[in-house]
Amino acid sequence: EELEHKVEERTLALKQANDELRQRIDELTRLGNWRKKWFSHISHDLKTPATIAGGFIDAIIDGKVQPAHIPRYLDKISDRLWTINQLVQNLYDLSLLETRQTRLKPETMPVYALLERLLAKWNDPLVLKGRTLNYELPMIMDTPVTADVHYLGRAVDNVLDNAVKYSHPGSAITIQARMAPRSLLLHVSDCGIGIPSESLKHVFDSFYRVDPARNSGVPGSGLGLAIAREVLHMHGGEIHASLNENPGCTFTIEIPLEEVEPDVSQISKAPV
Ligand code: ADP
Repeated sequence: EELEHKVEERTLALKQANDELRQRIDELTRLGNWRKKWFSHISHDLKTPATIAGGFIDAIIDGKVQPAHIPRYLDKISDRLWTINQLVQNLYDLSLLETRQTRLKPETMPVYALLERLLAKWNDPLVLKGRTLNYELPMIMDTPVTADVHYLGRAVDNVLDNAVKYSHPGSAITIQARMAPRSLLLHVSDCGIGIPSESLKHVFDSFYRVDPARNSGVPGSGLGLAIAREVLHMHGGEIHASLNENPGCTFTIEIPLEEVEPDVSQISKAPV
């Protein structure tokens, strides 16, 4: 009987070890797939602009471009280099945020002061490129809120950049601020091309772009909303996308009103 008991114990331990091993293998496979996905996206997204810029430079060196056209070519080269630079910067920022190597520098201020600082640059017609920006702000906004203005600004900018990029000149973008019992809600709505409902939950994944965006020539890397989501999570907040009844979509940013700790403990899982 004792022997039977021992065998049972051993079998159980073996089964547990087997399960753990299987879990580890699954984890490693997921990580390997994630690495492959990142490498293929990064190499593709860097290769395209680099090849085009290289082609223009070769054409100039080989004397195939008339001198009068050289400034136009230099402009195009500069555009491609800017794209590469943006991609590298976004990748770097996202990797620091995802691995929590970035610490927030929280500041406490009244809600109206935070909104002023977040939205100041959006009063400029140059950044709106022909879209109008409407505000719907509540009367009472002196509740204190704690946030890292730099990073939260990045998140809000990425959402507003998209509202501009994926809507038409002449259309309106609305920013609505609302006080919920424990959080400040910012709704950013546009009347643009919208997002298919099956893509709504994917738009925050790194490198994800809805097909029309990928194919329309609208520049982008699919990293802006992934950065925004990491920033909100580090604040203990959230970000969601939803569809409007009319064309267009609404992004809701939820910033908690309680104190934000500069947090390094929560390492987010690598997306698969
Ligand atoms: P990108 O650099 O491609 O804009 P993002 O991470 O900011 O990357 O957004 C991911 C994708 O979500 C975009 O490629 C686009 O397909 C979709 N998207 C984001 N915001 C909007 C919006 N306001 N209207 C329509 N589609 C949007």
